[in-house]
Amino acid sequence: MGVKATLIATKLKKLREAFIRQLPSQLEVIRGAYAALGQGAPAKGALDELHRCLHTLRGASANFGLDVLSAIAAEGERLAKKVRKGETDPEIPWRPLLEEQIARMEREVAHIDVSQVMDLQALESVAAAETFHGNERKVVYLCEDDSFQRLNLATQIGCFGFEVISFGELEQFRNAVRSGHPDIIVMDLAHPDRPTGGADVIREIRADLEREIPTVFISSLSDLASRIAALRAGSSAYFVKPVNITDLCTTLNTLTTGETPEPYRIMIVDDDPYLTEMSAMILQGAGMDTRTLNDPLGALPLLFEFKPDLILMDMHMPGCNGMELARAIRQIDAYFSIPIIFLSSETDTDVQFDARRMGGDEFLIKPIKPDHLISTVTVRAERMKLIRSFMVRDGMTGLFNHTATKEHLDHAIELARRQGETLCFAMIDLDHFKDVNDNYGHQAGDRVLMALARLLGQRLRKSDVVGRSGGEEFAVILPACTILEAGSLLEQILESFAAINFPAGENSFNSTFSCGVASLDTYDTAEKLYKAADEALCVAKREGRNRVVAVGCGVTG
Ligand code: GH3
Ligand code: MG
Ligand code: MG
Repeated sequence: MGVKATLIATKLKKLREAFIRQLPSQLEVIRGAYAALGQGAPAKGALDELHRCLHTLRGASANFGLDVLSAIAAEGERLAKKVRKGETDPEIPWRPLLEEQIARMEREVAHIDVSQVMDLQALESVAAAETFHGNERKVVYLCEDDSFQRLNLATQIGCFGFEVISFGELEQFRNAVRSGHPDIIVMDLAHPDRPTGGADVIREIRADLEREIPTVFISSLSDLASRIAALRAGSSAYFVKPVNITDLCTTLNTLTTGETPEPYRIMIVDDDPYLTEMSAMILQGAGMDTRTLNDPLGALPLLFEFKPDLILMDMHMPGCNGMELARAIRQIDAYFSIPIIFLSSETDTDVQFDARRMGGDEFLIKPIKPDHLISTVTVRAERMKLIRSFMVRDGMTGLFNHTATKEHLDHAIELARRQGETLCFAMIDLDHFKDVNDNYGHQAGDRVLMALARLLGQRLRKSDVVGRSGGEEFAVILPACTILEAGSLLEQILESFAAINFPAGENSFNSTFSCGVASLDTYDTAEKLYKAADEALCVAKREGRNRVVAVGCGVTG
């Protein structure tokens, strides 16, 4: 039997209710800590205590979906921290400000409705993802006057791992932005009696704020005039309602993380340690990742471990020469087409010709000019990366394909063994996906696949590997992760995914998946892991779908 989503959801719901019931007493403690500051210069211990209490409240309330409370606590925490560090302006009356934050928290807690659990699903999963990976969540300020759309959008954006604070009125939003710290804004263009009110307010705020906050507009209108109004307010993107939530969240992610592409990996083989060092420094200066090797006979292990995009190689080395090494490397299937650039003081054109014939792509004469080295390496590494991406990536989702995922699994198992760590492997299959295609069309089906791919990509750690094994099947490798952690993380993703609304004409639909997960602790080879995860997936399907079934250590049955 596996970890059941519904069971966890019920437990969390109870936990949340208990948390809300104890909030008044938690606030009393905060009041007490505030009172203990006394008048005059506060003792450091007392400030530490107040700061700690506010910090705890901020984290915990965010975890339980109490965003407003969390935001107020965060303000208080920030202020307490400043006072503690002596960074407050002596002019600033921090005591009344703190007092006011505490009063605001008390007012907020007074009208939290225990039974109101609408946001719970999204937020608890985010909370779990956060505690699991310790990631800082990006804060989204959402301003939308329609309460139904507001709640819906907040929940769905929350599913993608953002912390969402929502506002129904422009004035309320404007005040919050002044004192708050959003990473990004999602703004509805039209507000009651103000067809471009959203853009107007953003323009005004932009003039006041010292820092840029990227803003994405949403609107039911697609006409040019509306779009231009948004552009003039400095919009980064414009989405027409009903908003495609996957696209919106991908945009939010790109705008808030500014992720840069992976650097090229260059392996440098030269018996002269100074020369390798110099080439490495030049290439690192251009943002590349390098590994150097002075003994050519150690090339193969490094090749497998580092997986370079390109090899920079000396022509004459003791033990074996560059041409022999190039030939040996190209006899390995996976490196058949890796670009190799020879570095040599050799001026004999015959030797150069030979080197090219052997599969060396380029021949650079020492001493090399730094910019020449950089440009030659860049052009060839780029091409290799592209070729490799065609071989290992799935065209639609950009995830690793089946073969690449298998290779990653072998590699991850080896690494786990060496580091004495465990590892989990999960297989995911969409539920009744044929019906999705039949009822809403193949395109809608593709959007579901892409949404799941992105959700997995966003929720998992950098070290995790996500692959698309086949049509509507995905595989996930979770290094350094116990079966219980894996089970609960996948549960959270399962719930978030189920909460995503996919628009289909006038209507919308939801989709679910089933998941089987197994641990290397119990299934100690790649084959056994695959089989165990696949069987667990079948059990999940049999038991009614939309669930995670975990097998292995720590899980009974
Ligand atoms: P189950 O819950 O048992 O997994 O039911 P199912 O309908 O998901 O399973 P089945 O294997 O019968 O059907 C899988 C469907 O997935 C059939 C195929 O049309 C669809 N599919 C596979 N690849 C793609 C794709 O790339 N895009 C779309 N839109 N559909 C795909
Ligand atoms: Mg299937
Ligand atoms: Mg299926």
